[in-house]
Amino acid sequence: MKIENLDLRGKRVLVRVDFNVPVEGGQVKDNRRIKGAKPTLDLLLNQGARVVLISHRGRPKGQYKEEFSMGPVLEETEKVLGRKVQAFFSPQVVNDQIIAQAQALEDGQVALLENLRFRPEEEANDPDFAKDLAKLGDIFINDAFGTAHRSHASNVGVAQYLPSYLGLLVGREVSVLSELLDRADKPYLTILGGSKVSDKIGIIENLLDKVDGIMIVGAMANTFLEAQGYAMGRSLVEKDKIDLAKDLLDRAKKAQVQVFLPRDLVVAEDLEAKEGQVVAIEAMDPDRMALDIGPKTLEAAKVFLAPAKTVMWNGPAGVFEKEAFSQGTMGLAKILSQLDAKTVVGGGDSAAAVAQSGLEDSFYHISSGGGASLEFLEGNKLPALAAILGEEA
Ligand code: ADP
Ligand code: MG
Repeated sequence: MKIENLDLRGKRVLVRVDFNVPVEGGQVKDNRRIKGAKPTLDLLLNQGARVVLISHRGRPKGQYKEEFSMGPVLEETEKVLGRKVQAFFSPQVVNDQIIAQAQALEDGQVALLENLRFRPEEEANDPDFAKDLAKLGDIFINDAFGTAHRSHASNVGVAQYLPSYLGLLVGREVSVLSELLDRADKPYLTILGGSKVSDKIGIIENLLDKVDGIMIVGAMANTFLEAQGYAMGRSLVEKDKIDLAKDLLDRAKKAQVQVFLPRDLVVAEDLEAKEGQVVAIEAMDPDRMALDIGPKTLEAAKVFLAPAKTVMWNGPAGVFEKEAFSQGTMGLAKILSQLDAKTVVGGGDSAAAVAQSGLEDSFYHISSGGGASLEFLEGNKLPALAAILGEEA
């Protein structure tokens, strides 16, 4: 059942959103997550629904802490929606008074509750807390993909007590990520990078028989290069994953999956270096560490990626947070933005890197859930989806 087909006028709709945004000096520093929920919220409010929003922010560890209040988020939500948002704020998050306030909402009005994680019952998926949350609505919509891999009261618990649906954002995540698992247009290539092989093993294993090629970049590539006999100096290498890397390379070969590894690297003494030097993979200095892919690698990547009809990118090509080591990742973003392919980005840092490149609009889909997209692509069932879709999830 799609929310577009529901008759919502006069209905109280409890919506779990992912407003876990960075706040500095009382200001929201990045409102992408709030913007992500806007299509669902506009749909509901334009139809005259009475909307109650719930979210967590940060890690207050089950206690009221003023610095984790949703105050700044409320102000930003008003700006993004262009509507008044009522503050139903209590350190208890939900109590009889908040429930009474929700009863009194009028058609087309919207309110936000305090940080769900002020209550330890949230992460414990406590049924009484979930029941109290359920009293805030006639129906429940989950539009928070970022927490879909967690079993909490506000996403799994509450769905037991109300007719429950996926929001537009979560619906789009499910449809795009499912496409990547079972019906991607071919050639289908994947770029895997980021800090650790161990974080991405599940994805590699699940995608190995689905993709036509794998490009390995970032710190992950160091372990694969070492597995191929290159000396990686002081680079981040997971020594205990070298055998696994060898095994994965063998399996890729047997499955006729092309593997692309860096040809040159940007190296430096440490992360604080103001600039790096480009070296071929055969010429690593034992005293330096690889912190980005080099220009020859980017040129080759352009050729490797050119025929793709689908690309899934998870994990930056270097330490893109530092200007000196950002060119590989920014270069990849540019190559992907120019492809005639469905380009999908998973992973929180990768999504931040694409935002930094300013090329977000040229991508087919940028997942709003780092951990959740990773688990989905590993082939795991996400509890918050299963709670609503049942077996289909
Ligand atoms: P995502 O969140 O997209 O899944 P990861 O969390 O796996 O990505 O990895 C992102 C991190 O990897 C970034 O903080 C980046 O600085 C780091 N990284 C990428 N390449 C290297 C490298 N060569 N050496 C050290 N760290 C790296
Ligand atoms: Mg990350």
